[in-house]
Amino acid sequence: MDIIVLKPRASEKEKKHIIKRLESLGLEATVSKGTERTIIGVIGNTSKVNEEVENSIRAAAGVETVMRILKPYRLASREFKKTATTVKVGKQVIGGKKICVIAGPCSVENQSMMVEIAKEVKKAGASFLRGGAFKPRTSPYSFQGLGEEGLKYLALAREKSGLPIVTEIMDPRDIDVIEKYSDVIQIGARNMQNFRLLLVVGESKKPILLKRGLSATIKEWLMSAEYIMSRGNMNVILCERGIRTFETATRNTLDLSAVPVLKKLTHLPVVVDPSHGVGIMEHVSPMAKAAVAAGADGLVIEVHTHPEEALSDGEQSLRPDAFKQMMKELKPVAQAVGREI
Ligand code: PEP
Ligand code: MN
Repeated sequence: MDIIVLKPRASEKEKKHIIKRLESLGLEATVSKGTERTIIGVIGNTSKVNEEVENSIRAAAGVETVMRILKPYRLASREFKKTATTVKVGKQVIGGKKICVIAGPCSVENQSMMVEIAKEVKKAGASFLRGGAFKPRTSPYSFQGLGEEGLKYLALAREKSGLPIVTEIMDPRDIDVIEKYSDVIQIGARNMQNFRLLLVVGESKKPILLKRGLSATIKEWLMSAEYIMSRGNMNVILCERGIRTFETATRNTLDLSAVPVLKKLTHLPVVVDPSHGVGIMEHVSPMAKAAVAAGADGLVIEVHTHPEEALSDGEQSLRPDAFKQMMKELKPVAQAVGREI
């Protein structure tokens, strides 16, 4: 028993009674209120619930059906929620008709570059500003990010451009400072299965951009989304950013088939990051167009005014003029699939 669907006219008292019953069984309830029906998601070890107990809940007042989900993820599944989830951040909606573009440098390097890039990407039509202040670098000798100082520059760039901020958290100990400055919290590919970190952001009120792990299957990725959702944070955005394959011509292999697959398996919005997906500037725009054609709800694009001087990921960062051109070329693609940008 994983999902309890209530009758359209089930009363508050009936709902509370069922939740109490679940709690007495050592389970937790997550209530999802739709326009017609309320659905109760059951969290905990539901396999321990025997058939008799399940039948008694099925017979309780206000209950329409009780279902089992065969998939290991529940709250993230389409069975749990049929309608697509939209994540609202200020005036922006991720998962709606508009394709949201999250653009900015890989790392926050200094104040003036942050403000300049923010203004450029805003002018070209981006909806969010990105930039890492805590950077997950392969080498301990590479630039590790400016920490809180970088977050302050991001906040200033938000003030100057009006764009909400997406930034990465690497350590549960940074949750307060990240929450203070960010609008959306990014979990990077390398931390997709950092379960303690997932639980911490699951307690946050901020939406989470969950990147796919370097070698994670779609199922593992959805299980990570489930970790976050199991703590009450339903605003998870999945981000395909390329996976490890035998191919070395590109930095990663951008798995665009994940987009339609995810649309079927989950109600969560899906965005694509072609910058980390291919790792080569000139291939970013074609893959961005392909991502939109495949049904992505948004894009993550690295932009830098001087990619040759960037402290990280310069080789895959678009100059503002190339970003502007890409945004222009995305318009007819978005339109062709019933979206706008
Ligand atoms: C990033 O967004 O700059 C980043 C480090 O991405 P990923 O975690 O996908 O490698
Ligand atoms: Mn990067």
